[in-house]
Amino acid sequence: MSQKQTKGWCPSTLIPMISGDGLLVRIKPAFGRLTSFQAQKLALLSKRHGNGFMDITNRANLQIRGLNQAQYPLILRDLQDSGIAAPNKMHDAINLMLSPLTTRLSLGWRCAEVLYNIASEFPPLPPKFGFAIDCGSERYLQHASTDIRIEKDNTDQLLIRFDGCRQGHITSANKFQSDILRALRWFVSLQKKNHCYSRMRQLVENNDVPDAFTTTMPSKNTRSLYPGFKEDWKVIAVPFGQITADQLLEIADQTLEILFSINRCLIIDKTAKLGRQFITSKDDPRYNVTACAGMPACTSASIVTKQIASNICENQAILSGKSYHISGCKKGCAKPTNSDICIIGESGSLNMLENGCAWDKPSHISLSETALMDELFKLQKIRKNAL
Ligand code: SF4
Repeated sequence: MSQKQTKGWCPSTLIPMISGDGLLVRIKPAFGRLTSFQAQKLALLSKRHGNGFMDITNRANLQIRGLNQAQYPLILRDLQDSGIAAPNKMHDAINLMLSPLTTRLSLGWRCAEVLYNIASEFPPLPPKFGFAIDCGSERYLQHASTDIRIEKDNTDQLLIRFDGCRQGHITSANKFQSDILRALRWFVSLQKKNHCYSRMRQLVENNDVPDAFTTTMPSKNTRSLYPGFKEDWKVIAVPFGQITADQLLEIADQTLEILFSINRCLIIDKTAKLGRQFITSKDDPRYNVTACAGMPACTSASIVTKQIASNICENQAILSGKSYHISGCKKGCAKPTNSDICIIGESGSLNMLENGCAWDKPSHISLSETALMDELFKLQKIRKNAL
């Protein structure tokens, strides 16, 4: 199985998805942020109509889980009334990530405004197609899953770069709207009747990109975002990307806004005081462990991924600085990139491999959880002996 076989559509607010634990609604917060009032609203909706669990996704979205299907029209109205749901289908479809801490009226903010404003002029795009606006003085979104990157070059000029291309092309605030539409039309023009590209990277790997689109390298000034303090903000995460309604209420009580960002991080007021159920430091071992929804939330899963992830952390069976991915099946939704250790459920037992993805060939198969822990401890021993 390859990653190419993953589902070709994404849920949204207007297009909810039936999941193993009920209806799933994906919220794409406008400009990547929610006010504390909106966050409280979501938490209460999740408590009242869902199972109290929400996922923070890799693409800075929030998924409310376990919703009662019959209540969906009511839930949607509530989301729209509180400005959480997108006002129309085109806004609902747009996938947009902003660099962390993008300020209002900044260039990045204005580019996002343009994209929201011209969404109705976009040609038909695949559901996962997205934009990463990363034109601050430092680039943060270089590893984010996206299709069109909006960045700056080393001389501070605005750049549009296709994912998969090393170089982009210079634009300006004035030309941004027409240049984006030109880029999207080019993408759509290469879609073939018998072969549609769902992502820009696939398209550029298989087609020549006109020279005019690849003239300029993006700025080399890159950064990453981890839990801890960042300027006047606190960056936090929740174990395995799952937040409860009570946790969301706790955060909303202590911050004016919640910014959703890369690496499943949330950015909140610096003064917020949070308990151990939150990850507040990048040294927290739980931060390096990713787990997909797993059982019972996902019908494709045969293992309880988050429980296994939690057991691995509690047993201290992890190697510091290494990344772990617990996937309910070979699809690997939660992490489409390599992990140092990948654990995959198959018919209720566990497969394992090093340095790969969930769909790669495992080196260990059909392990029980006890056998898995033994293998993880063996790896720890080998590592210690090698030091
Ligand atoms: S990887 Fe996880 S969430 Fe994705 S389909 Fe498989 S079990 Fe479900």
